[in-house]
Amino acid sequence: KLFNELQDLKGNIRVFCRVRPFLPGQPGKQTIVENIGDNGQLVIANPSKPGKDGQRSFKFNKIFGPAATQAEVFADIQPFVQSVVDGYNVCIFAYGQTGSGKTYTMTGPNGATEEEWGVNYRALNDLFRISQNRRSTILYEVGVQMVEIYNEQVRDLLSSDGSQKKLGITTISQPNGLAVPEATMLPVLSTSDVLDLMNIGLKNRAVSATALNERSSRSHSIVTIHVRGKDLKAGTSLYGNLHLVDLAGSERVDRSEVTGNRLKEAQHINKSLSSLGDVIFALAQKSSHVPYRNSKLTQVLQSSLGGQAKTLMFVQLNPDATSYTESMSTLKFAERVS
Ligand code: ADP
Ligand code: MG
Repeated sequence: KLFNELQDLKGNIRVFCRVRPFLPGQPGKQTIVENIGDNGQLVIANPSKPGKDGQRSFKFNKIFGPAATQAEVFADIQPFVQSVVDGYNVCIFAYGQTGSGKTYTMTGPNGATEEEWGVNYRALNDLFRISQNRRSTILYEVGVQMVEIYNEQVRDLLSSDGSQKKLGITTISQPNGLAVPEATMLPVLSTSDVLDLMNIGLKNRAVSATALNERSSRSHSIVTIHVRGKDLKAGTSLYGNLHLVDLAGSERVDRSEVTGNRLKEAQHINKSLSSLGDVIFALAQKSSHVPYRNSKLTQVLQSSLGGQAKTLMFVQLNPDATSYTESMSTLKFAERVS
């Protein structure tokens, strides 16, 4: 049903909001969330302006409150995943400041139990399950690439030797073309392959994070799942891809306080996030010019942004009062593109 509704949306863009819970030991516990309505309405309260004057409301296709489980979140994503095996391209990304729960939603917490696994693992499992169920009529091949974009450079997260070599991007003229052809592509032949893959990616990301001081929050990580199907009777073939993106933290960096590498990182993040916003904005407006070329991020994601593709953005919020300013800027980003 969700899938059919998607056809009617302008630009096929949906925006979900997820508010993470307060963490054990997190001080303060003064929340900016005044109300979460059943109709997708979120009311935010300015902690330094009590009363109605300090309130603002935002509208989403769906809001997940602090108590929402990973399984509940995935239930609303599943139709998007399902459409990939039908030959559609889909992009799901998480946007928000560092600490707002992007990685929790997309991957899950460190050392996740099965219940805590995030969208990446669930989507891959689900694609594999659907392809197995259909195998008497359609022969599917599922392959996965995982890359990181850091300082406008694309690096492979699945290379067996752990090398982080810089990869080129091709301009996609075909909807089934590979944006990063040199990135390692691993086949998924069983559900245990899914877990192995996730662990390789996590390990490669973790290595670079320690080496470069928590770099993971300053890079975009992209899991791309390619699904090719061959209809055994008709002889026709289909292709769909799913991009699952854990974006770099959207927090503003005070330019007067950082220099050198840190400033360069901040500028690259700023540029790529605003390019992503511009692309989605152009698509939502049905603009004739969509500025994909302005960042590596939008070039890599191009096949799953626009055209027949479906896009789902997760707006992640830390409910704490001290995050009010960042949360408002996250919400304004979402407001512009939805
Ligand atoms: P980000 O990737 O945006 O920087 P994380 O996903 O790392 O944020 O989340 C920050 C912290 O909050 C982590 O300790 C994470 O496990 C926890 N967390 C985030 N979302 C949830 C949630 N929905 N339920 C429980 N803990 C969460
Ligand atoms: Mg993270």
